[in-house]
Amino acid sequence: MSDCIFCKIAAGEIPSDRVYEDDVCVAFRDLDPQAPVHLLVIPKVHVDGADAVTGDNSGLVAHIFEVIPGLMRGQGVSGGFRVVTNVGQDGGQSVRHLHFHVLGGRALGWPPG
Ligand code: 5GP
Ligand code: ZN
Repeated sequence: MSDCIFCKIAAGEIPSDRVYEDDVCVAFRDLDPQAPVHLLVIPKVHVDGADAVTGDNSGLVAHIFEVIPGLMRGQGVSGGFRVVTNVGQDGGQSVRHLHFHVLGGRALGWPPG
């Protein structure tokens, strides 16, 4: 999608602090980190959000979840981490391109606000 900021980050048209990339996904640091390690992991292809996951694209999600543990090990996170995806207006999704927040490096509170 031409006006999607995360499509532009995936394409390298907008700079990001990228920590990982493969054929399917890109991981980069959130601009406004909420933990010592706060990555965003996105599919390279545009998917609106977790409410747009179907049998045709769910392999992207599986792949991202295969990648995440090694990413966090690579960031030195050993005490656990959290994976969050916000969906839609009430879910607090501000960028309408599927992304997984991966937070670690401190004890995280629950429940979220
Ligand atoms: P959401 O609110 O949709 O769940 O998460 C969007 C996240 O993207 C926010 O945590 C926000 O800080 C981050 N973000 C928004 N624009 C940019 C950007 O241009 N670069 C990076 N690295 N993060 C961004
Ligand atoms: Zn996009």
